Order: sequence, then structure tokens, then C-alpha cells
Amino acid sequence: MRGISPVPEYVVMQPTTLCNLDCRYCYLPHRALDRRMPVEVARAVAESVNPWAAQGSRFSVVWHGGEPLAAGRAELAALMAPFAGVEHHVQTNATLIDDAWCDFFVAHQLRVSVSVDGPAAHNAERVTRGGAPAYDRIERGIATLRRYGLGFSALCVVSTPRPGLATELYSYFLDLGCEVLGINIEETEGVNQRPNEHSTEAVRAFWAELVAAWRRQPRIHVREIEWALRYVGAVLDGTADDLLPRQLDPIPTVASDGRVFLLSPELAGFTDPRYGDFSSGNVLTTPLAQILATAGDSAEWVPEYLAGVQACRTSCHYFGFCGGAHAANRYFEHGRFDGTQTNHCRNSKIHLLDGVLDHAGRD
Ligand code: SF4
Repeated sequence: MRGISPVPEYVVMQPTTLCNLDCRYCYLPHRALDRRMPVEVARAVAESVNPWAAQGSRFSVVWHGGEPLAAGRAELAALMAPFAGVEHHVQTNATLIDDAWCDFFVAHQLRVSVSVDGPAAHNAERVTRGGAPAYDRIERGIATLRRYGLGFSALCVVSTPRPGLATELYSYFLDLGCEVLGINIEETEGVNQRPNEHSTEAVRAFWAELVAAWRRQPRIHVREIEWALRYVGAVLDGTADDLLPRQLDPIPTVASDGRVFLLSPELAGFTDPRYGDFSSGNVLTTPLAQILATAGDSAEWVPEYLAGVQACRTSCHYFGFCGGAHAANRYFEHGRFDGTQTNHCRNSKIHLLDGVLDHAGRD
């Protein structure tokens, strides 16, 4: 894996900076502001994306936020209209989902992923702007999805791994009926400065317990378990070197004003005396394809990050599984991009793989 691919597998679009919730662990700096994406931005992105979608087998446009549904149906439809041949996805807190939104999801073939952290007690950090618990509204939105028979994914933030939690969460998500589950151990990034350092034993045990729960009833695709098992399988059959992509996916995030942030959506909205605003260009003045063609030196921090990935390659036994993890975690934990281990990569890469192997070793 060398350098950055000039063609991504998906783009992330921010239709509005606004979120109607105010989760205590949220990284977004401008979630109280309603900065809307003009249609011109979507048109500009589509000019690059549509030819990519026509060439490849699958190309995704992910509507992210803020809370993307806060943009409203008419505005989201107008932003989606310029795209052709793509799969549309939306990551939502589910609180705004009602019958009208479900009709919209069906009409626009929009695939839905909801953010929910487990049963009510585990959603205490997820609150409205007035500080009231949001869980009832989240649950109502998901119930509406289910009433419509719409399949959905779920994304769960775990703030403190502890014994028993993984079993409880897996049981909850089985009952919830999601098809795919992603687990994020809370990250110290963006405006969220809460520490994310946990004991090795606690995090490894969390992942091992999750594998055990999943193996008893493997009805959900658990993203992290599938990553780890795919890697372990490839090591065993001697194909692990083929697993990482030949080049990093640039994962372009297009902010509401058209600026493009590569590799880590979480960098959008921040500035630094050394790195400026982290953006690599603006689609209103430069085609996205052109921005990505020069991605390796499109912003001052990117070469520094690539040096960090190279340092991981030469120093870390987990590189073949991890691929160097995310730029934003390095920056928000180290203040720069060329360091290697972070709490994030320990929690979500190193201890994940070790936890899966711990489980296998117990069998
Ligand atoms: S686990 Fe951490 S140190 Fe190892 S390759 Fe990934 S980011 Fe680098």
C-alpha cells in the first residue's frame, strides 16, 4: 500500500452542519450551526463521481452530518438529484425518522444506518439541545423503519468497555433487528476531549466477549469481527499481503461549503497554525477528480500523514491488519500526523485483533 488512490470507493457529503442532538461525546465543532450545502456543490461533486460510478461495480455517496435529515427532504432530494449510478447511504441519529422519511428512503433507495448505543441506559450521553435524553425519539425512529420493513445498519459508541457489556449490547442489537453493526470505542477527537485510554485487559476482553456473543447467534454482520476474521483467515492461507488496498482510499469528505477533506472526515471545521484548515481544495473551484489526482501533496498535513503510515509499516506488527488507521486520531491525540500508536488504534485495531485471537485460543 503506497500513496493515495486518485479514485475513491465512496464520498462523504455534509448537507448541513446542524445536528438536532448534542451528544456529549460528539466531535463536531459546528453542530449548533445550520450551514447548508448549496446544490452547486452537489453538482460539482457529481461531475467527478458519475464517471467513477459508471466505471466501477459499486460507488457510494454517504450523507453524513451534522444530522443529514435536519436538511429536510426537499433539500436532500435536490442534493441527490445530480448523482447517477451510485448507492446512496445516510448516517442518522434516527430521531427525525417518521413515515414521510421512510417513504423518502424507499423512493430514493436510500440505505439507512442509525446511531444508537444500546439500551436506554447506554444512551445517556445522547441528549437533545435542551439536555433531555434522546433515546425515546431514537427508538421511535427505528420502530418506524422496522414497521416499513426497511433493513438498516447500526453504529454504536462504547465509552467504557467493561465485563458483561458486549454480551448485553449484542443481545440488544439482535432484538433491534439491524443487519450490520459497527462498534466504535469512543475517540478523543475534534471537540471531544474526554480521555479514551483504557486498560489492555478491559478492551481485549470486550472484543473477545463480543466474538463469543456473536458466535452463539451469528445473525448480524459485525463489522469489526468480520475485519479481524478476514485478516486472520488471510494470514492462515498465506494471502494477508493481498488484503490491504494497493493505495489508501482518500475518503473525500465534502463539507457544506464545498471544501474537501481527505482521509478523515473529523478534520473538517478545524484550523491549526501549522496545517491551516486541513482542506485539500474546494469543488466549487477545482474538480474533485483533480483534487484527488494531487492528493498526496494537496494539503500540508497529508505528506506528514503518509510518513506516519510508513513509520507504522516498519514498526508495527499489526500494520497488515490496520493499514495505519486514521489521520484524525493521530492529530487529535499527538498534535501531528507522523506519530504511530494512538489510544484509538490500541482500542480498535490492536486489542480488537488480540481479543478475537484470545477468543479463538479459548475454544
Ligand atoms: S495499529 Fe497503530 S501503530 Fe499499528 S499500524 Fe495501526 S495505527 Fe500504526
